[in-house]
Amino acid sequence: MAGEPQSDCLFCKIVAGEIPATVVRKSARTLAFRDINPQAPTHVLVIPHAHYPNAAALAAAEPAIAGELLAEAGEVAREEGLTDYRLIFNTGAGAGQTVFHAHVHLLGGTKLHEGLV
Ligand code: 5GP
Ligand code: ZN
Repeated sequence: MAGEPQSDCLFCKIVAGEIPATVVRKSARTLAFRDINPQAPTHVLVIPHAHYPNAAALAAAEPAIAGELLAEAGEVAREEGLTDYRLIFNTGAGAGQTVFHAHVHLLGGTKLHEGLV
C-alpha cells in the first residue's frame, strides 16, 4: 500500500531505528538526520516516515507532509544557524537519486557552487 514501509528501503530502516543515524530533528511525520557522506559543512536529509519513492509522489499522495518536509528543513537550517542554504530533491537515477524514499537535502555552511540553477 502507498506509504507503507518497504523492507528493502534504507530510509524506512532508519525511520524504524534498524539502522543508526545522527538524528537532528524529528516530528510525528518527519525525520531529519545528517548525511553519511556530507557534501557541505551542514548536510542534512529530511524525510517523511512514510515511504514514497520521490518528492513528487509524496506531494501527490500527502501534500501536507510534503509541506511539512519544507517547514522542517527550514527549522533545521535555523537550528544550524544557517540563513543561506540550498534544498535539493533528486528525482530519478539520472538526476543522482540513489535512495528511492522521498528526501530533501539541506546543504549549507559554505559558498555553494553556482551553476545548473
Ligand atoms: P540521493 O542521492 O538519493 O538524492 O541521496 C541519498 C543520500 O543518502 C546520499 O547523499 C547518501 O550519502 C545518503 N546515505 C546513503 N546511505 C546512508 C546511510 O546509511 N546513512 C545516512 N545518514 N545517509 C546515507
Ligand atoms: Zn522507504
